[in-house]
Amino acid sequence: QSSDMSDFREIFSKAKHIAIITGAGVSAESGIPTFRGEHEKWRKWQSQDLATPEAFSRTPSRVWEFYHYRRELALNKKPNAAHLAIAECEARLRKQGRSVVIITQCIDDLHRQAGSKHVLKIHGSLMETRCVSCGDVTVNKRSPICAALKDKGAPGPDVADAQIPVDKLPRCDEIDCHGLLRPNVVFFGETLDSHILTKVEKEMETCDLCLVVGTSAIVYPAAMFGPQIASRGVPVAEFNTNTTPKSEYFTHRFQGPCGTTLPLALARHESEII
Ligand code: NAD
Repeated sequence: QSSDMSDFREIFSKAKHIAIITGAGVSAESGIPTFRGEHEKWRKWQSQDLATPEAFSRTPSRVWEFYHYRRELALNKKPNAAHLAIAECEARLRKQGRSVVIITQCIDDLHRQAGSKHVLKIHGSLMETRCVSCGDVTVNKRSPICAALKDKGAPGPDVADAQIPVDKLPRCDEIDCHGLLRPNVVFFGETLDSHILTKVEKEMETCDLCLVVGTSAIVYPAAMFGPQIASRGVPVAEFNTNTTPKSEYFTHRFQGPCGTTLPLALARHESEII
């Protein structure tokens, strides 16, 4: 395993199809807490205990308030140097007939805001809702529980549990449906959307370089994407502030904040013509 940046840059300069797998760590320097960081509690619950199908069926209002809080937080944040380096690299390489795909576990909108085009959001999006009855997915300009929260006060992490009455939670407006809406995110224990998974598998089979950025490699199946690509003999580089349970599978490892390491790794190489 190497942490030699010039060695990585040589491989990068020749790669035609680059897959960049990102996790919550890519947004940490934008001020969005990761799940395994120091701010892992919301009110008195662990984030992981609220992002589950069981929590949503038991206390849908609380889970909605948690996701509303996360959505408002994300909307107030800006892409950082890592998001921008990824987006700039994708645009530059596209002009050279090379491709970059971002396979992200983040549910914030920061890759898109940075200008990335080819993004597979395997865990869904904070900006979308899905009907639990008919499955209809909607992109929401406003948080769907804004109105219900008006008389309930700020839905922050420090307030007492507000608990919107269940009949005030957002409902599907498809004719004859009226099913309960939920955040269109993958809760812990749920399977990934099979259409997205098929696209991810195709990218994993065709990429000739992979970067694994800011992911703890604990959440499956995403944790296996990097090691699966490495098992084909493809170079895989990990960018993380820490080691992870999958670090040993990778050819390269760059320890440190990805807002510093990625701009160096993805900068224009001297051999690039355009
Ligand atoms: P995680 O919270 O489990 O792990 C974050 C990883 O990022 C850790 O390995 C940590 O060492 C690393 N990290 C932290 N700061 C970093 C930095 N500046 N540079 C490089 N690495 C850094 O995140 P995960 O692996 O994505 O999995 C957890 C789940 O949490 C996912 O399902 C994801 O959808 C969800 N989540 C998403 C967001 C978001 O959308 N921004 C935020 C929190 C959690």
